[in-house]
Amino acid sequence: MSDSEGMLLPGFQSSLFFETPEEIYARVFRELKPRTPVPQLQVEFCRFANANSFIRLENGCLRVRISDLLASAPAPVMEALAYILLCKLYRKPIARMYNHRFRLYLNRRDMRRQANLVRQIRGRKFVSGPKGAVYNLEEIFERLNREFFDGLMGMPRLGWSRGVSRSMLGHFDPSHNAIVVSRIFDRPGCSELGLEYVMFHKMLHLQYPVDHNGVRRRVHTKEFREAEKKFPRLKEAKEILKRL
Ligand SMILES: [Zn+2]
Repeated sequence: MSDSEGMLLPGFQSSLFFETPEEIYARVFRELKPRTPVPQLQVEFCRFANANSFIRLENGCLRVRISDLLASAPAPVMEALAYILLCKLYRKPIARMYNHRFRLYLNRRDMRRQANLVRQIRGRKFVSGPKGAVYNLEEIFERLNREFFDGLMGMPRLGWSRGVSRSMLGHFDPSHNAIVVSRIFDRPGCSELGLEYVMFHKMLHLQYPVDHNGVRRRVHTKEFREAEKKFPRLKEAKEILKRL
């Protein structure tokens, strides 16, 4: 246990450190459902592409599957996850301290780095080439690069989304260093202004990394918002996106 984790957790039982994951789940279960006999419990660590975890009641057996990213998490973090999963399963409110403890752990720099790495290796992500049927993302990137970034921004991988998504118009994926743009823009008659704006917005994400500050994660910082205002016809572009 490092000092920082110890500081977070005043007054929890020391027995915690001697419990197996199954024992932690059994104890939390008894606390949440004191009148129900504890079912058989099975906890396994699985190779997922992210830090997700799952719980399921199956033939009277509680099966918990936890990302192996969390295999070396300290006991208090495992305990917090047990509360979160069991409360979700039994539709009980989750005490804030457990959510907070768990999120704080996931947000630690080493955890983020490890999660990024695992995502790169395990999550195979499809990125098409930059050339669409109508527009070439490379040309748009280079034009914006010259105009707004002094041509200094290194080109990430550029691609079109597989489906025609309205809800996700563009996406910058730091672990793949890729900007993926919705194919919805790659149609004749579709205004280039909307596409340019989405690309510009994603390029700003490359320039202004996400601000991780404790549990809060600020994606669009003040600097980001200021820089975005440099885009000419910003209002018009946003209007186009609304009408897609
Ligand atoms: Zn954004």
